[in-house]
Amino acid sequence: MVALIDVDAPLVSNGRDSFLWRNASGMFCPSFSSKETWEQLRIHSPIVPWTDVVWFKEHVPRFSFITWLALLARLPTRDRLRGWGMNIPADCVLCSNGVESHEHLFFDCSYASEIWGYLAAKLLPNPPSTISAASSWILLHRLPHHAKVTAILKLLLQSVVYHLWKERNSRIFAASATSSSALRLAIDRSMRNRLLSFPGHSLLSSSLLQFYFSRLSFPL
Ligand SMILES: [Zn+2]
Repeated sequence: MVALIDVDAPLVSNGRDSFLWRNASGMFCPSFSSKETWEQLRIHSPIVPWTDVVWFKEHVPRFSFITWLALLARLPTRDRLRGWGMNIPADCVLCSNGVESHEHLFFDCSYASEIWGYLAAKLLPNPPSTISAASSWILLHRLPHHAKVTAILKLLLQSVVYHLWKERNSRIFAASATSSSALRLAIDRSMRNRLLSFPGHSLLSSSLLQFYFSRLSFPL
């Protein structure tokens, strides 16, 4: 309103009216950029150190999304639901031996640690035992000679987190349970599908595929 009464009434002799969009530097320009507008509207937060563990070129979006929530401890785990006043059991449906929390699911839980520990041990002699320790390991080893192992470990971590959460939901909402060995095979299948879906001509994809097959060979 203030801007409108501060400007002179338009004159036909000045030409036609046109839309202008203010960019980040405060200049008005004729083209609209949703990215630039979003950058001006959103609240900027500091970049978290683990961003590269969640969002990277080879990621699977649904895996990244669940991993992102898990790292933020924002999944609706039973300890949080009870904290919000819901009258539900607290026990973990994967092992029935502990309170379901982020720390428990990723990977204090015996069912979860059996899967993560077994698969991650194919890549590292002493794999990190928690999701945050795995994230820190990946970030510490972002060096060219570790490129393959960190890329595979990121994909594996995300696939394990996603499948554990999915399995937890299946047990609660569909009364359907999968054994740890069957879930391990499902995770392996998701890894192979992802690696095989990279463009065939990509040098990185073929070397990642070879690396994965050399480390995680059947029988799992
Ligand atoms: Zn458990």
